[in-house]
Amino acid sequence: MKTVSIDDQQNVSTTAGRIFKIIRDHGPLLGTDIVRRTGLAKSTVSAYLERLLAVGLLREEVQESGKRKKLKVAESAGYVVGVMIGQTKVHVALCDLEAEIIDSLEGPIDLLRETPECILGRVVGFARELEQKAGLGPSALFGLGVGLPCPVDYVNGVPVNPPVMPGWDRFPVARFLAQEFTCPVFVDNDVNVMTLAERDKGKVLEHGHRNGSFMLVKAGTGIGAGIVIDGELYRGAKGAAGDIGHIGLDGDSTVCRCGNTGCLEAVAGGRALVARAETAARSGRSPFLAEALERGAVMTPSLLAHGAASGDEECIRFVISSGTYIGDVLAKLVNFFNPEMIIISGGLTCLGERFIASIRESVYRRSTPLATSDLIIKQSSFVESGGMIGAAVLVLDEVFSHQNVGNLMRDHEG
Ligand SMILES: [Zn+2]
Repeated sequence: MKTVSIDDQQNVSTTAGRIFKIIRDHGPLLGTDIVRRTGLAKSTVSAYLERLLAVGLLREEVQESGKRKKLKVAESAGYVVGVMIGQTKVHVALCDLEAEIIDSLEGPIDLLRETPECILGRVVGFARELEQKAGLGPSALFGLGVGLPCPVDYVNGVPVNPPVMPGWDRFPVARFLAQEFTCPVFVDNDVNVMTLAERDKGKVLEHGHRNGSFMLVKAGTGIGAGIVIDGELYRGAKGAAGDIGHIGLDGDSTVCRCGNTGCLEAVAGGRALVARAETAARSGRSPFLAEALERGAVMTPSLLAHGAASGDEECIRFVISSGTYIGDVLAKLVNFFNPEMIIISGGLTCLGERFIASIRESVYRRSTPLATSDLIIKQSSFVESGGMIGAAVLVLDEVFSHQNVGNLMRDHEG
């Protein structure tokens, strides 16, 4: 076999990283597929593949004999931990190098009252427990990813101005966890993390748009979006991209918690729906909600969903208007960046198909025909696992970046 002499370390890293990324994004692949995709010489590709196989980052896919073997990521060569911190629960998963969950744990937390040290301490405990159960040593841990329900300065791994989390503002989450585990730690907001799960494991992958452009919209108490352009998460200059909940609706004077008026979130978010439900219950305009109030029921989006399903006209109107407002804003974004898919997730998806349909209708009505010609709008299929999987993908995107793959390869080669 012809060997290739490669002196330039930088070059080695970049090329190894490039080949590995192609296999990770498009694999399993044959060596000839990689030659075609990279334009590199066959001998160069073979030399790199051999090295990546030798250090255990790639493996050959098991196939019937006689067929040429395709290469894929060696998913068991190590593991990553994916963490999703919510308002009332924390989920921690041990995942393989393809972000498949091996095992997971969850526990109650109170994000409004407990200190970051206390909650992150529980995360450490869960991760250690999972490691032990799986019989894995700390050296096999490639990294840890965390999703937080607030804005995050991604580069520094710190939450920024979380609205309802005392003690968390600028708390060094990544540094705190990196001291416990001798591996890299990455922290991002929950919406971005869920977006990565959709890309690698959810409906986006199912529809063949893994390397395309799409948007995930999380509609709950607040409204936010994750943006993927050509397969890469787009965070913007400061990590604030996708904060669509505070895009203003023309002519609306509803006051938002941010101080502005007419924000999408203040008009169509969960809190707005609950407030409107309370008014409709008290005034008797909605017989369903009035009766529920009398029974002592708490007004929630899922109660509205029940009302709409039972045919209560006011509840139906609320569901449709929330979807329509969200769709109006999404239509502008569709005209702006022409995604292939929009995935809807979050608590308001409990409002059901009528909600999704009104979003879809309003996007189609208000976007340009070319932008919507093949646009797919779907509800996320993840329930609770999306956050953990996405946090694992976040780590894998980083540790398998161009530069790092070269370093990993050299480390293993000693
Ligand atoms: Zn606002």
